[in-house]
Amino acid sequence: LVQLYVPLNFMGFIYREIKQSVTDLEALFRLLEQDAEIADRPGAAPLQTPAGAIRFEAVDFSYDPERAILKDVSFEVRPGAKVAIVGPTGAGKSTISRLLFRFYDVTSGRVTIDGQDIRDVTQTSLRAAIGMVPQDTVLFNETIRYNIRYGRWDATDAEVERAAALAQIDGFIRSLPDGYDTEVGERGLKLSGGEKQRIAIARTILKGPPILILDEATSALDSATEKDIQDALGRVAEGRTTLVIAHRLSTIVDADEILVLEAGRVVERGAHAALLAKGGVYAGLWLRQSEAERARETLARAGED
Ligand code: ATP
Repeated sequence: LVQLYVPLNFMGFIYREIKQSVTDLEALFRLLEQDAEIADRPGAAPLQTPAGAIRFEAVDFSYDPERAILKDVSFEVRPGAKVAIVGPTGAGKSTISRLLFRFYDVTSGRVTIDGQDIRDVTQTSLRAAIGMVPQDTVLFNETIRYNIRYGRWDATDAEVERAAALAQIDGFIRSLPDGYDTEVGERGLKLSGGEKQRIAIARTILKGPPILILDEATSALDSATEKDIQDALGRVAEGRTTLVIAHRLSTIVDADEILVLEAGRVVERGAHAALLAKGGVYAGLWLRQSEAERARETLARAGED
């Protein structure tokens, strides 16, 4: 038994390490199906998403019993609406997206999609309903076409190319000598962060999920790329229920609701204008980011002179 236990325990360790470090959550689906901690309930039904409404109801969560990470978090994203989560590093923003994917179960409270507790539905159907554009996209050492088609295997070439066009990466791909057949990754063409993110967006457009999680990159992209990516993200989010983990407040001024998370608690909530008028935590964050933005622009202009 000991002989058997040790390697299993070791596998569990490796698994947890991977679960934590991999940002391209979709790449983990197959692995997750082997997860003993999170298993389908006997008789679990496939998730039905006629509308795509998300609800967190009084959710408490901790990775370790000694340390509470989320405390009494409640919010709703109505079908097709956009809710943004902002807050300092370590506040628990990404944890909320991990719970929605059911990588972990809540400690108390519940998470529902269109009224179904996500613990009662099959993991495969849950994950098929959610698209994720992560901070850092991991691409396969394969062709660009393969990397986009990963969103939906039965997509035709024309559909792959249309998704790329919507993600504003089609022109770039066509300019390459091998076009869509260009190999990327370690042995192939190295892509910039912005290019990789647009491929992830194309992949998600192809998948066409009713629910979307956008995990904004913390790393600054140049402002033209940033604008292109925001446009592409806007397109993929159209008509889908969207949860944005935001770092730059300028990208979420149009959100239906903004939740300000601090140390695992929602300390403020509301639309951008109302939160600014309130003059609280969000208004302070906004002021600091606007000042930093102005300082960067001034520096950039000085550099051009
Ligand atoms: P950032 O803006 O830096 O991405 P965040 O708000 O998304 O931060 P989370 O990644 O949700 O923060 O992490 C919230 C807290 O949970 C952090 O203190 C983190 O150290 C802790 N945490 C995250 N994953 C685990 C884990 N697997 N085990 C234990 N603690 C964890």
